[in-house]
Amino acid sequence: MTNKFHSVKPVSEFKLKQVYIETYGCQMNVNDSEVVLSVLKHEGYTLCSKLSDASLILVNTCSIRENAESKIWSRLDYFRSLKRKNRDLRVGILGCMAERLKERLLENGTVDLVAGPDSYRDLPHLLEGLSGGQKQINTLLSQEETYADISPVRMDKNGVSAFISIMRGCNNYCSYCVVPYVRGRERSRTPESIVREAKEVFEKGYREVTLLGQNVNSYKWKDINFPVLLEMVAAISPLLRVRFSTSHPKDMDEAVVRSMLKYENICRHIHLPVQSGSNNMLKQMNRKYTREEYLSKVKMVKTLLPECSISTDIIAGFSGETLEDHLDTLSVMKEVGYYTAFMFQYSERPDTTAAQKLADDVPADVKNSRLNEIIALQNELSHQSNLADVGKEFEVLVEGHSKRSKLELSGRTSQNKMCVFPAAGHKVGDYVRVRIISCSSATLRGEALN
Ligand code: SAM
Ligand code: SF4
Repeated sequence: MTNKFHSVKPVSEFKLKQVYIETYGCQMNVNDSEVVLSVLKHEGYTLCSKLSDASLILVNTCSIRENAESKIWSRLDYFRSLKRKNRDLRVGILGCMAERLKERLLENGTVDLVAGPDSYRDLPHLLEGLSGGQKQINTLLSQEETYADISPVRMDKNGVSAFISIMRGCNNYCSYCVVPYVRGRERSRTPESIVREAKEVFEKGYREVTLLGQNVNSYKWKDINFPVLLEMVAAISPLLRVRFSTSHPKDMDEAVVRSMLKYENICRHIHLPVQSGSNNMLKQMNRKYTREEYLSKVKMVKTLLPECSISTDIIAGFSGETLEDHLDTLSVMKEVGYYTAFMFQYSERPDTTAAQKLADDVPADVKNSRLNEIIALQNELSHQSNLADVGKEFEVLVEGHSKRSKLELSGRTSQNKMCVFPAAGHKVGDYVRVRIISCSSATLRGEALN
């Protein structure tokens, strides 16, 4: 919406079109919220930063674990209290929980609108229906929708780093995971639209794009596969860093690493979720790789690209997990030496294969203590990985100021490690050569060399 629009509309109407968007879950949801904002801006909505200013609250939700959904239910209790004070306020639920629970969300008196991840183009129509006083819902999943032609309105704070979804949905059906049910079939977006969007953000001053998909290595559009796409984006400018997430170990191959070798601006980091180190668990999880196959891919990466960091996702206490299985997870972590990890307790999700066929039989206290052991080990591994960087030099892309001091800047190395250093005249968006002088398990500390 333009300023001109503000100035010609009466205040009451202006107030009617203020949207507050709250986003939960993964980076793909963050990017989806940006698509939603783009659709709503065309309808004359502006984004507001205070709930009290909103005429419409949209919550983009996550269903991956039970506690992600519990958070949303408590938010709805709060929104109910806001609606009592403001009778014109409307509340919409978007994303995975909308898709999973559908009409059941409308039964909660607070929710007026429910829109699944493939129905954001329909929001103008749903909002029109809402103004007629009827609750609205669209949870149709699509085989084609990629929102390829919609330029997301960026909501990030730094203006340096942008997310670009290159595909949607998932066909992998890992037995524990709700994603294929709530995000639909896997589909890739046209390479032209991806490159156009990356160029657009680069021209606006962004210096990093992260290409997003549940399994980016299975990206396919005609004869363009993921390594080719990666090179197309990297070729935009050596000043544009390119990241990607997530790589499924069954599909990540040497061709991606060869593309990384060709372009220094493709960041030296691969997020390669292992989930478990036990072959028995991997089979029950339907991950379609063994521990040995996983480790041989890690070896391939380390051989071809020794400076590449590897991170992972781990689930503790999956159905039937024995102490031996758990110890296998700890040993795979040590063998790879992850620099960081996202670690979760298994949460059974309705309708998944695991919920239907496997008992959620690891007691809560055991899940909890195994998760704590995994976290403790990861802290050690992260610290070791950071200690190995002390004395080395890295190029850091500055994203903002450090939490502690305005006089310090923070940004990430190509390996995705957070690095803090005295500002010394540099600013957000700069590439700075930094020598690492100390570290904690979470952060590198350094000094600027240029
Ligand atoms: N597509 C990515 C992949 O396969 O690696 C992961 C996407 S998922 C949004 C992110 C992570 O959530 C998964 O890697 C897994 O570790 C975790 N996760 C998924 N379902 C889970 C469940 N039911 N309980 C606990 N963690 C889960
Ligand atoms: Fe879920 Fe597996 Fe798809 Fe990842 S690959 S989103 S874990 S089903």
